[in-house]
Amino acid sequence: MLKRTHLGTVMFLSATVTGLWLLNSCKDKEKNYAATDAIYKNMDTTVKPGDNFFLYANGAWLKKNPIPPAYASWGIGNLVQEDLRDKLKKINEGALKENAATGTSSQKIGDFYYSGMDTVDIEKQGLSPLKAELDKIDQVKDINSLVDEFAHLHTIGVETPIGAYVGQDAKNSSKMLLQLGQDGIGLPNRDYYFNTDQHSVDIRTDYQQKHLPTVFKLAGLNDATASAASNKIYGLEKFLADSSRKLEDLRDPYHNYNKMPIAGLSKLAPDINWKSMFDKMDYKNVDTVIVGQPEYYRAVNKALKTYSLDDWKAYLRKNLVSAFGSNLSKPFNDENFRFYGTVIRGQKTQLPRWKRVIDEENGLMGEVLGQLFVKDYFPEKTKERYVKLVEAMRTSFKEHIEKLDWMSEPTKQKAYDKLAKVMPKVGYPDKWKDFSTLTINRGPYALNIMSANNFWHRFEANKLGKPVDRTEWDITPQTYNAYYNPSNNEIVLPAAQFMVPGFKDDDIDDAVVYGYSAASTIGHEMTHGFDDEGRQFDAAGNLKGWWLPQDSVAFTKRAQMLIDQFNGYSIYGLHVNGKATQGENIADLGGIVIGIDAFKKTDQYKEGKTINGLTPMQRFFLGYALGWLGQERKESLSSQILTNEHAPGFMRVNGPFTDVPEFYEAFHIKKGDKMWLDPDKRVKIW
Ligand SMILES: [Zn+2]
Repeated sequence: MLKRTHLGTVMFLSATVTGLWLLNSCKDKEKNYAATDAIYKNMDTTVKPGDNFFLYANGAWLKKNPIPPAYASWGIGNLVQEDLRDKLKKINEGALKENAATGTSSQKIGDFYYSGMDTVDIEKQGLSPLKAELDKIDQVKDINSLVDEFAHLHTIGVETPIGAYVGQDAKNSSKMLLQLGQDGIGLPNRDYYFNTDQHSVDIRTDYQQKHLPTVFKLAGLNDATASAASNKIYGLEKFLADSSRKLEDLRDPYHNYNKMPIAGLSKLAPDINWKSMFDKMDYKNVDTVIVGQPEYYRAVNKALKTYSLDDWKAYLRKNLVSAFGSNLSKPFNDENFRFYGTVIRGQKTQLPRWKRVIDEENGLMGEVLGQLFVKDYFPEKTKERYVKLVEAMRTSFKEHIEKLDWMSEPTKQKAYDKLAKVMPKVGYPDKWKDFSTLTINRGPYALNIMSANNFWHRFEANKLGKPVDRTEWDITPQTYNAYYNPSNNEIVLPAAQFMVPGFKDDDIDDAVVYGYSAASTIGHEMTHGFDDEGRQFDAAGNLKGWWLPQDSVAFTKRAQMLIDQFNGYSIYGLHVNGKATQGENIADLGGIVIGIDAFKKTDQYKEGKTINGLTPMQRFFLGYALGWLGQERKESLSSQILTNEHAPGFMRVNGPFTDVPEFYEAFHIKKGDKMWLDPDKRVKIW
């Protein structure tokens, strides 16, 4: 569950939406509020709020809503997503019946759905949709043709050791440059190849001894050769993983910024003809690149010579089959799901086929569907409420900075300027992406996915040498997520993120909205511009210091307290990585304290009336916890702790709340309660 990330480029996010307006608003709100109250019915009042607030807020819902077998986790984002799928299904079925002219959005949507649902053909085809690509891999005869094949596979969305992408130059945000990051491994994170905890050991053992051999056998190898190839490929990936940085070491933007001309790349990895490879990747006229992790590319060069061409070909075959496994016939799909769904995430069964096809479609053509979605479910009036909320949070954040006793006046002045320039994108893009060069037909399904991957590749490659399009959205409006992009100094807040399944926006009181949307999403994203990473970028989005040294020291000291706090949390024997998650935890805590003071200015807070026995401030905290309503399987939680810079959802409620004085007051929490933290241990940054 990648909720509220902040990131540079995301191309294929599975997206989510709501619009379950089943409950009509009651005429007499006071009297019937229990039924229409977005928070009240979820609560488990047998739990003391000071012992486990997350369970107190969400426990009744959790008991009534066990995780369905097809899911790794189940929560508010899923409710939103389920509703979206039903709507998209209708759109797809309508498009299919329409028989629209070739090249129209309806034709693309209808034909994509047809090809994905056509299991008769998919089963008949087996591996044959990939035959032409497998033949190309077979023709590799030396390092040069191997590197050419990396380039080709890159353009159709298959992983290779070359992690190339187009992004803004961190030190000159008005320029798009080619960037090279570490990539090329089959397990979700480099640590899986080395960690000694049981979760990691089980996963890598299955990968090496079961998953890889099965994939190779499905691709035509016999038992002995499949097993030998698996061991070789595992060794190759482990070698690449060994030269890859850990999650926490990817956080320092300076350390992961190494700008160099092509000649510099040739020094790092002399056996790759970089110019020729970039040309074949459609990255035209590249003279300068930013290398994230130079030592990784030294290792790639070494691996090109250490591993035989046959090993490399086997590696590429595996990556090709893995990339499209879930779009091929049953044996491929089953193994792909067994390993990536069940072993890694704990899913028991697969989602029904139509849901999977719609998820793929939504990931690949999300803005086509998004245009239809916002028209019906995010009216102008709702947008206005959230545009205003962003400004209320900006004002509150400024007042917080004014009061800081640890930040000097010159740094404060720069902070005000940066905050004033944070650009909000609310609801949906002003300008939609153009899908006219995307070709989709009635199948094979895997080739439609390949075509869409190539469309996105061209879309990204085309940005090189052009002005930065600051109107662009990296996620769709129907995505239950949001992000901060430091290079644009912008917060991007999709429509779906503001929705509470089952409720009309008008019926949700400000207290809940300030917790659910203002604190946990808007404030969270806004403070990302000032977290351990974001604070290193200036108002114009450039990586450039603007803090006086003593202010950096004071900030780092406070951030360290939060790192220590989260290092102390663990589940299933796995410790949270306080350092890797610090940016998210700083943003959560910041969003909460800024949200509280923004909420204190509302009429609802001032009037102080209770609803269902809950004070406005209690409702604020419950509204915040609603954003994390949900539960997750052991496998999925364990994977998250190892691979994700976000701590598990329940810790993102209980953790920061223990730092907030208003929380103690609102729920009368006393020493001796499990969530009690002595005042000198409570972290205060913003
Ligand atoms: Zn975040």
